Amino acid sequence: MNPKALPIYEIEAALVAQLRAQPRAIVTAPTGSGKSTQVPQMLLDHGLLGDGQAVILQPRRLATRLLAARVARERGGPLGGEVGYQIRFDDVSSRATRLRFVTEGLLLRQMLTNPRLDGLAALIFDEFHERHLYGDITLARALQIQQTVRPDLLILVMSATLEAAPLERYLAPCALLAAAGRMFPVHTAYLAEPVDFEREPVWAVAAREWERLVSDGAAGDTLIFMPGAYEISRTVQALRESPFARGWIVLPLHGELSPTDQDAAVAQYAQRKAIIATNVAETSLTIDGVQLVLDSGLARIPRFDPYRGINTLLVERISRAAADQRAGRAGRTAPGVCLRLWTEPEHRARPAQELPEIRRLDLAEAVLTLKASGVVDIAAFPWLENPDPKSVRRAETLLRDLGALDEHDGAITPLGRRMLAFPMHPRYARMLLAAQTFGCVRAACLAAALTQGRNLLVRRAGKDAQGDRDDFLGEESASDFFILMRAWSYADRNGYNLDKCRRLGIHAQAARQVQPLFEHFLRIAREQGLTPEERAAPDEAIQKCLLVGFADQLAVRLDGGTLRCRVVHGRRGEIARDSVARNRPLIVAAEVHEIEGRDRELNVLLSLVTAVEEAWLRELYPDDFSERVQVIYDHEDQRVVAETQRLFRDLPLATRRGGRPPADAAAALLAAEVLKGALKLPGWNAEVEQWLLRINFLAAFRPDLALPAIGDADRRRLVEQCCLGAFSQKDLRDQPVRPVIRSWLTPAQQALVEKYAPERLALPTGHRARVTYTLDGPPTVAAKIQDLYDIKGALTVAGGRVPVVLQILAPNSRPVQVTQDLAAFWRDHYPRVKQELQRKYPKHKWR
Ligand code: ADP
Ligand code: MG
Repeated sequence: MNPKALPIYEIEAALVAQLRAQPRAIVTAPTGSGKSTQVPQMLLDHGLLGDGQAVILQPRRLATRLLAARVARERGGPLGGEVGYQIRFDDVSSRATRLRFVTEGLLLRQMLTNPRLDGLAALIFDEFHERHLYGDITLARALQIQQTVRPDLLILVMSATLEAAPLERYLAPCALLAAAGRMFPVHTAYLAEPVDFEREPVWAVAAREWERLVSDGAAGDTLIFMPGAYEISRTVQALRESPFARGWIVLPLHGELSPTDQDAAVAQYAQRKAIIATNVAETSLTIDGVQLVLDSGLARIPRFDPYRGINTLLVERISRAAADQRAGRAGRTAPGVCLRLWTEPEHRARPAQELPEIRRLDLAEAVLTLKASGVVDIAAFPWLENPDPKSVRRAETLLRDLGALDEHDGAITPLGRRMLAFPMHPRYARMLLAAQTFGCVRAACLAAALTQGRNLLVRRAGKDAQGDRDDFLGEESASDFFILMRAWSYADRNGYNLDKCRRLGIHAQAARQVQPLFEHFLRIAREQGLTPEERAAPDEAIQKCLLVGFADQLAVRLDGGTLRCRVVHGRRGEIARDSVARNRPLIVAAEVHEIEGRDRELNVLLSLVTAVEEAWLRELYPDDFSERVQVIYDHEDQRVVAETQRLFRDLPLATRRGGRPPADAAAALLAAEVLKGALKLPGWNAEVEQWLLRINFLAAFRPDLALPAIGDADRRRLVEQCCLGAFSQKDLRDQPVRPVIRSWLTPAQQALVEKYAPERLALPTGHRARVTYTLDGPPTVAAKIQDLYDIKGALTVAGGRVPVVLQILAPNSRPVQVTQDLAAFWRDHYPRVKQELQRKYPKHKWR
């Protein structure tokens, strides 16, 4: 087909005109319209690049190379000439290169050494709708560069499906161009019944359905979407063995294939073909002639795994939007059919869209890259969509713990820059660098690979398998990694044989997936000048290396009897019961799983555990130790004690008792116990309470005297003062209280209290009646009738202003009346009371 006939040429003239007028544009057009292959050529052919280069950013390595190859072929030159590409481990470009296809992450790293983007005339962000983290960041950086030092830089954002509005606002002022594209109708079908891929493997289902559709007369070529290389190879095998595939060409397409095999998948053949691909064929690459799509509905999606604190690729169900893109692949050249290997109700339950990576990935690597390019405040960075501040904080804390950021100002350290050269999570970069020092690079690469995928060991392996496993792999060890490493070597030696693996409770499939990851880490290690050891490294070296990589998950056991422990950064945790290192006092965990705690403390379950030693911490982090003296109340001994804690960062490693605690701290702790009612301060008696009530009474009823009311805070301070000098319950017995309380007031104020709120009132009979002050309201006096006969008017305190409440008692001390109005008593009640009492107590004087 003549490329010039592609739908994208509808907007060629407009795009060129727009870019001459302003340096930003958005281009949207359906997949297959010619965006990736044609737009860069338009810029070049219309002279928009001057003598500079256009860099076309791609999210996937596979598409990067294939697109470059296609464009080079269209232009009739060799790859690496006018058209080139660059991916990790593979740079096929030269001085002559004008159109360079590059993976997103790689360009961001190149921006560190070329901050003005010298030599670049245009940056084209392809497949932007996928919203990869590095695409977002690179675009933000590019806009900054354009606004400051490179106003001439062209920025072009391209996408198959685009919710253009937010992006348009973000890029404003910017041109928006849309090409319609051509699409034939696609009939979408579902399975009638749900299938469990654990029971019937996804490749078997795909092969069965493909046979059915092809024998029913499905036309054209077939494209089958599978999540990864392994599922693809099984599907290829199943189809090649099928009698219905006679005369067909069946080929895999994924990033781990050799370039030749990748080229084979997109080449044209006389025969019908079936291509089994990952989601690279979703929108990045177009395979012409496809009329039948079978969609497993699965993809490997990078996502932050809170268990491991890293991003992992796990097989997940794709969103409805992604499924629609896949279906569209069947309608490029003719009407087509798409069969989804799930049911329609299941489809409705899927999420509409995948979250952008910024919302679902760990940001540690991105934050480190930004810091390296001089961005100080990550939150203030001009994001298209802001990351969750919690994710940013988590990333910064981890980077500090790893030594990549400065403890004080958060700037990148030389070590951080060194780590950045490793295209992997900073945790593993740090671990590999440490491994070089300790001589265990190979082991570290294996450990890194082992943490990426599923657990190798079957959890409940059954008694026999567990027994065999323990015999073979060991049941006690300094690290769970040692068991995993032995299990993996066993599986590897036995060619991942299912039966042999099952006998030891090893997931053969999970073990198989470790191999390419291990190779990947080894390759990067070598590329970075590290030297993998020839002979097995000593255990201690590996343990130390794991300590450095997981120092942010260091934990110390709280006691010997349980698995409870304290974890750095103020967390509490518990070591997994099935860890072989569960009895070690000091450990690092490669996996942490947050569990809901009842208290506000964060509880974590620690697994993949490695024993470490304090001496190693001292050797590796001599500056991170400190001592803290703490004064605490020991409930058992009922005394205040001083404790000296030895801290690593904020984690108390050990506590030693001794020394006399400071008196004021001790008094405060004892006072708290006294106020709770847990301890007694015997000197604090009823008289003391009355004294305080007397002060408060006058403060309320005689504000003119200006006595200070005693509130709760004063009360606490008073108790503290009374406890001063005491360190235990025993000491409290002899603490003087009354003089302390009295001295709260000046002698003059004390005299006012005695005068206006007297402890006793003299009655006409000479009897001195006790006045009882209360929390609120007037005080009370209890007196016998005979003592009250000669009282004229009311009985008062507060200098005559407040009549006391009288509790009038019979000769037997039983109250007969409570009143503030004595005159009313004599008048209204006394006659009847007297009649009654006089008979009972004739000897008393009655008036
Ligand atoms: P878009 O980026 O809009 O999805 P592309 O520029 O990738 O479109 O592709 C435009 C057309 O070019 C496709 O429909 C296909 O016909 C053809 N094409 C692209 N790459 C290749 C290739 N490697 N081999 C064969 N044809 C290709
Ligand atoms: Mg494209």
